[in-house]
Amino acid sequence: MTDLVQNLAASGREAAVFERIEAFRRRRPRLLDEVVTLAHGAGGKASAALLDAVFMPAFSNELLRMSTDAAVLTLPSGERLAFSTDSFVVKPLRFPGGSAGHLAVHGTINDLAMMGGRPLALSAAFVLEEGFPIDSLREIVADMADAAAAAGIDIVTGDTKVVEHGAADGMYISTSGVAAIPAGRQLSAAKVAEGDAVISSGTIGDHGTAVMLARGDLALEADIVSDTAPLHELMECLLAAAPSTRWLRDATRGGVGTVCNELVRDCNLTVVLDEAALPVRPPVAAACELLGIDLLYVANEGKFVAVVPAGEAADALGALRDHPLGRGAVQIGEIRAEPPGLVVLVTAFGGTRIVDMLVGDPLPRIC
Ligand code: MG
Repeated sequence: MTDLVQNLAASGREAAVFERIEAFRRRRPRLLDEVVTLAHGAGGKASAALLDAVFMPAFSNELLRMSTDAAVLTLPSGERLAFSTDSFVVKPLRFPGGSAGHLAVHGTINDLAMMGGRPLALSAAFVLEEGFPIDSLREIVADMADAAAAAGIDIVTGDTKVVEHGAADGMYISTSGVAAIPAGRQLSAAKVAEGDAVISSGTIGDHGTAVMLARGDLALEADIVSDTAPLHELMECLLAAAPSTRWLRDATRGGVGTVCNELVRDCNLTVVLDEAALPVRPPVAAACELLGIDLLYVANEGKFVAVVPAGEAADALGALRDHPLGRGAVQIGEIRAEPPGLVVLVTAFGGTRIVDMLVGDPLPRIC
């Protein structure tokens, strides 16, 4: 499967070159910009550099350094809470399959769920631009209320600010949430081991492609709908069927390629992805190909990547497929030990290539 890796290992000289390239590639990216660019919000290399250069040194603490979807707080009673926050600047505010309101609720629920949390409550904060129609605000808020009710969670606190006309683009939403993590539940990159199966809970690339086409400046029409959905129930189904599940992450901004890179950064193993196994709807694949965008970096808002022990993979897939949000679940790869810290894609033609962290921002303001 990993010809590339074996070939390189076979030749000492090439291996040495490879190691030097890898050492260079694995250096944490440095912040060289003097002003913020759109790439700093893309979740890839530039975001990591901004985080390392500005936020980490200022806020530095052990929980933040874990870089998980949600921080895990331990209460004096010993019970654990997952705590997460997210902002939503999607453009346009409404797209096939959902709106900024749906994303704002689902995004935070999903970050909580990826730590094994059962969501308890959400907050919502709005930054509104002077002149924004009240009717449009009402619609987005109704979407949030619907999404929260469908997920069985309340929005219990919030805030509203207004800035002058021209100082913002309509509206921005921030949500935070807390969730209870049942005793004994521990999802962590540190538990990932060689031989584990890498699973996608369904088709990839739907959300990013839907939003991109909704902008209408590509003169491209296709029947593509965002997958925005709350994943906490699907997570419960997975953990019931595959209790030794190691690690979960929703493949939002930056896509499956980026979350796999985050995983190998944290566990120092290899993710080998099988291109032929990647689940993708034909119109999404066609749109990505036409636009020259790598499907592996396109955002999802209702899909997660799960790592489960090989022995639980069949049960995990069965449970996921039994749930409406996991119908398209499939194994997309496996964990290898060598070479550590890499994501390798075995292409449909049998070649191999390295899947790096996302560079730049092919699809800004996708969530
Ligand atoms: Mg996430």
